[in-house]
Amino acid sequence: MNQAKIIATIGPSTRDANLIAELVAAGMAVARLNAAHGNLQWHSEAIDLIRQVASQVPILLDLPGAKVRTRELEHERSFKAGDRVIFTTSEDPSDTQKVPVSGAALHQNLAVGDVLSADDGAISFAVLEIGDEEVVCRAQCDGTLGSHKGISLPPAAQTSLLTDRDREIIEFAKHKGVDFVGVSFVSSAEHVEGVRAVTGKRGPRIIAKIESQDGLDHLEEIAASADGLLVDRGDLAVQTSLESLVMLQKHILEVARAVSKPVIIATEMLHSMIENPTPTKAEVSDIGNAVLDGASALMLSGETAIGKFPVQAVSVMRRIAAAVADHDQVNLDRQTEEGTRGIPPAMTEAVSLITRRLPVTKIIAITIGGYAARMVAASRPRQPILAVSNDPATVRSLNLLPGTEGVYVDAPFLRSSTDHIVQCLEILWRRGKVVDEDLVLVTSLGYPRPGNRMNMIQTHVIADLAEALGWRQRDGAQETPKARPV
Ligand code: ATP
Ligand code: MG
Repeated sequence: MNQAKIIATIGPSTRDANLIAELVAAGMAVARLNAAHGNLQWHSEAIDLIRQVASQVPILLDLPGAKVRTRELEHERSFKAGDRVIFTTSEDPSDTQKVPVSGAALHQNLAVGDVLSADDGAISFAVLEIGDEEVVCRAQCDGTLGSHKGISLPPAAQTSLLTDRDREIIEFAKHKGVDFVGVSFVSSAEHVEGVRAVTGKRGPRIIAKIESQDGLDHLEEIAASADGLLVDRGDLAVQTSLESLVMLQKHILEVARAVSKPVIIATEMLHSMIENPTPTKAEVSDIGNAVLDGASALMLSGETAIGKFPVQAVSVMRRIAAAVADHDQVNLDRQTEEGTRGIPPAMTEAVSLITRRLPVTKIIAITIGGYAARMVAASRPRQPILAVSNDPATVRSLNLLPGTEGVYVDAPFLRSSTDHIVQCLEILWRRGKVVDEDLVLVTSLGYPRPGNRMNMIQTHVIADLAEALGWRQRDGAQETPKARPV
């Protein structure tokens, strides 16, 4: 089944080997860490744990970005509507009644009358006065604020620059072999490329978080340039309007799918499960509809980071995603308009056609950097995809793609032959990933050269291939490459 993937945030509730193993068993395909919370030591230990327990699970690390947040608070602050609240940019305010926040430029960017919306809109404050270090506000509703909670500024005041802290965290991510970094308030393709200059070619892949009007205005170019998109509904709702979310989410999904990029839906997907063992019907419907609209991954934040029922949340999400996965609306018919857009898109259309005409049981996407697998996965075929690569980092990152399992093979892909195709199939057969009864469709790059991507499609009945190539006669033990941990 071609299922949307589940991303779960590891936080205080789940930074534990047994719990991580349970999350994986329940359906977590990608582990997320949010560098805005906890220090690097905390995250370093979390990464080590995830790698120990689930070496195949890719890790997404969110950069804190230029977002203003409350600093470490000794205890949660409660507010009543109408309360006068003073935010201060001073790191260590003498007056403990004031709420310390990060972001020294807070007072420069605001105007009297602006509204600050905190914790994804859970509580908001109207700006009354602006001083050098302080912003005096009035609470617009009752609510509470804990440590490191995000405070959204009005659109004009929100900056999206990469901070020194972000750079430090990218270096940390590279050092720890993190697979993806999440970049906040992405505003343009140039912004993405600026981050890529720091991550480097072989560093983490870039997930662009769409959460501002700027991001929406430059959506096509961002989608083309990033490795994936994330719809951060929390800030997006604050930066646009609550009611715009419905159509914006659909629009972002459509744009990402047009360029075959993975797209993640995030924020409050099972929010009630932070406190309760079962979801609301509205949450069930939201998740199902996000999948029907083409989400390739669904994200849990507080539900698994600080929630009381993290494993249940993942498992409920998986059941809902599975229940709609086979619907026609998910299985896109990718007939594109006339005119050639290059070999790979045409090949992808051919894949769709063949998988609809033949009783194909599995799709094998042989890939170096992941391009072929991404193209095939984005067309959301009904068959499971085994994405095979000889690059361990690529293999792990492929597990973000819907319906896709990354498989590492220790086999060279030579420029002068297409032997790697049958070699990969034999390895899959020896590992039991494909069986005699399978009719597989294989996409691959034959005779790989730089700049050349996915140019071959083959179909095979595995039993016939095993027969023709004498797989059964050969000593399997010798042929089976040792599965290296990836
Ligand atoms: P963002 O705006 O980037 O989504 P957030 O503050 O909403 O940030 P999430 O990653 O969505 O954070 O997580 C939800 C909540 O879980 C956070 O507000 C925080 O209270 C808690 N949390 C997440 N990760 C950690 C962590 N590593 N340590 C402590 N608390 C965490
Ligand atoms: Mg959040």
